[in-house]
Amino acid sequence: MHIRTRFAPSPTGFIHLGNLRSALYPWAFARHNQGDFILRIEDTDIDRSTQEAVDVIIEGMAWLGLDLDEGPIYQMQRIERYREVIKQLLDAGLAYPCYMSEDDLNKLRDQQVADKEKPRYNGLWRPELGKILPAIPEGVLPVIRFKNPIGGSVIWEDAVKGQIEISNDELDDLVIARPDGTPTYNFCVVVDDLDMKITHVIRGDDHVNNTPRQINIMTALGGTLPIYAHLPTVLNELGEKMSKRNGAMSVRDYQKAGYLPEAILNYLARLGWSHGDAEVFTKEQFVNWFDLDNLGRSPAQHNPEKLLWLNHQYIQNADIAALAQATKPFAHDLGIDTEQGPNFTQVVALLKDRANTLIEIAQGAKLFYLPAPNHNPKEIAQNIPPAIVPAIKDLIMLIKNAEPSKEAYGVAFKQVLAQHQIKMPALAMPVRYALFATTQTPAIDAVLVVLGKDEAVERLSKVV
Ligand code: GLU
Repeated sequence: MHIRTRFAPSPTGFIHLGNLRSALYPWAFARHNQGDFILRIEDTDIDRSTQEAVDVIIEGMAWLGLDLDEGPIYQMQRIERYREVIKQLLDAGLAYPCYMSEDDLNKLRDQQVADKEKPRYNGLWRPELGKILPAIPEGVLPVIRFKNPIGGSVIWEDAVKGQIEISNDELDDLVIARPDGTPTYNFCVVVDDLDMKITHVIRGDDHVNNTPRQINIMTALGGTLPIYAHLPTVLNELGEKMSKRNGAMSVRDYQKAGYLPEAILNYLARLGWSHGDAEVFTKEQFVNWFDLDNLGRSPAQHNPEKLLWLNHQYIQNADIAALAQATKPFAHDLGIDTEQGPNFTQVVALLKDRANTLIEIAQGAKLFYLPAPNHNPKEIAQNIPPAIVPAIKDLIMLIKNAEPSKEAYGVAFKQVLAQHQIKMPALAMPVRYALFATTQTPAIDAVLVVLGKDEAVERLSKVV
């Protein structure tokens, strides 16, 4: 079987991280099986669909490297096709026009609710052998309803949830076209999944209720049923449904906050799927390991701390040139000219082990690109104890003659400490202050390498 999967988002409102997990799994399944992955934009709700949401989806997928074999395919561009299939169903007697007015439908519903029955269409306009239908009212445009099978049940083996059975008695005749002829949501999904030859429908479990209806329509159309895999929801850290209102972030937000796409992908992969106890893995490993069998059955919970931890892992182990490249835009945002001053890649290498995000690296880098501090004598007197001045002078001499390496500068420091019988902080703090007007910097020997010998000597000489 040639595997074909799809991600079929509705571009309505806010697209959070949990939404994109519904793209990741079908993508991984297609890639694992050398199949095809299709992006379908379900934009038939024209009032709520926005181009902004479409852009967020497409950009987010591209950023995570979820490449497409087909699409984006927009449902709004397939309206003619849906109309064609509706006609086909009408012609085959598998669908029928229903002239019940909104008013009558509401009355029917109210009565059923009063009788403690489940509100459902009563089949008034459903043609049956020997049944006489009401006279067609004048000036009323009908909806088109699908003739749902009566009796029996719809059964499918869900790849995540196991066997699900829904009695047909639960399902009334679904409206598949509105009075103006536009097709409805569940109908479009079926036509698309058939036309696109989708073999595996992997989607959120908020669609479980739609599945029996979709299966019935699909069967009526003579289609082969796909395998369904309904993914449990992603909850936020408080155990609530994720939404913008309670602080969910979009993929774009994570990008802006200095997360690496590899970390996000790894994180999302584990949000409802596992492979033994593997926590940190490459995209290739994920694709190799991915299988529907290992999808979780209970809701996954978003854990921002874990995501931050993963981001840190990826930053620490990143290719240093690529990491510097990825950090540059964040540095530029902070006003750092990465082309002037110390080598930016070296700066990033120095800072990466302690950073959780690219923003943190950029913030740390700022120190190296600020102009040399302009200490006034009073400040110097406060921060450089006179007793340390001879030690700093010796240090300057040793640095001047040392190899420009962390090791050599380390030796220089040790020599001065021994000679002057002082401890490291007593020397390092004034040196940091002299170099940067702060006492918070990474390891001082490494800092000297990055700042450069000449610059360091010049700055130190100004305070002694
Ligand atoms: N458009 C639906 C949604 O965004 C998904 C439909 C489907 O995957 O079948 O929830």
